[in-house]
Amino acid sequence: MIQAIPTVRAMAGYALADLGDSAAVSLAQNESMRPPSPRAIEAGQAALTQSALYPDPDWTDLRRAIAAAHPVAEDQVLCGAGSMELIGALVRAFTGPGDEVLGTQYGYAFLAAATQQAGARYHAAPERGYVVDIDALLAAVTPATRLVCLCNPGNPTSTRLPNTQILRLRAALPPDVLLLVDQAYAEFDAQDHSAVFELVARGDTVVTRTLSKAYGLAGARVGWGVFPPVIRAQIRKLLNPNNVALASQAMATATMQDQAYMRETVALTASIRDSFARRLRAAGIHTPESATNFVLIPLRDARKAQDADAALREAGLILRGMGGSGLPHCLRATIGPAPVMAAVADILEDFA
Ligand SMILES: *Cc1c(COP(=O)(O)O)cnc(C)c1O
Repeated sequence: MIQAIPTVRAMAGYALADLGDSAAVSLAQNESMRPPSPRAIEAGQAALTQSALYPDPDWTDLRRAIAAAHPVAEDQVLCGAGSMELIGALVRAFTGPGDEVLGTQYGYAFLAAATQQAGARYHAAPERGYVVDIDALLAAVTPATRLVCLCNPGNPTSTRLPNTQILRLRAALPPDVLLLVDQAYAEFDAQDHSAVFELVARGDTVVTRTLSKAYGLAGARVGWGVFPPVIRAQIRKLLNPNNVALASQAMATATMQDQAYMRETVALTASIRDSFARRLRAAGIHTPESATNFVLIPLRDARKAQDADAALREAGLILRGMGGSGLPHCLRATIGPAPVMAAVADILEDFA
């Protein structure tokens, strides 16, 4: 019989969001509430006419635009078909059978899947009150730990740690343990991130970002990361040679050069998010303080969460149930336009 290798056979399928029918409003995948920057759309359309050609395998223009907008050097950057591609390659390049990947209790589900694919073991350190606990992470490190992954701000918790805590984690981790800081939502977190980028120069830390959230390019599939030279060279071998499509590179470059549009998206999202969270709290639903474009909604128990989810779906509003993240009493709502969030709050108030 033809069979896949044991590590693949043992894997469950990746748990995708159930997005209901096509008329429903999806608030389930943390996509941007705004369309891409007009400059990105224009650049993408122009690039489509060149699509007979393979894309730039070195993402030259995009890396230049990234380095112009962030305190990083062009030659530290790798780009991926989403940051998921980079995170998956990092796990596969640095862990294998017998190794441990350490994440956090409510950490990104994709990481556990990538770890299983690599044949390594995934272990999660407890969080406290929906916030990553650095001491618990440090206490969970074993001699088998090869990679520690931290998402800041966190998904699905939406909370963030001050970057000083990340520096403290790095300083206390053994130097032969790689640290991945997944900053998929960093644009929504107003603190200065330069000290985290600076950790990359130590040679043992990687920082990833994405254009899928604040930049509104989830459908283009573009992520990037900052890597020490030795790590970068290894990861490069595992990426598909022409991984980011020509039109996607053009869109990503143009939107990276249009930081003002991204900042407008972040400000608008934050203002709707904060009014939505205030309404929920006034109704007795205690959402943690969000530093992202979504809100975690803890209800009394799993039953309440299921009932609220069903009522929202009935109204054509699709949130994400959090059972898969070990939070069956929670729903997660991506921030959409104000009238949509008002409709969500109207329904949720009945389930407080
Ligand atoms: C959305 C998200 C990403 C980014 O995924 P892409 O592959 O870049 O679309 C990475 N990490 C977390 C925690 C996310 O929520």
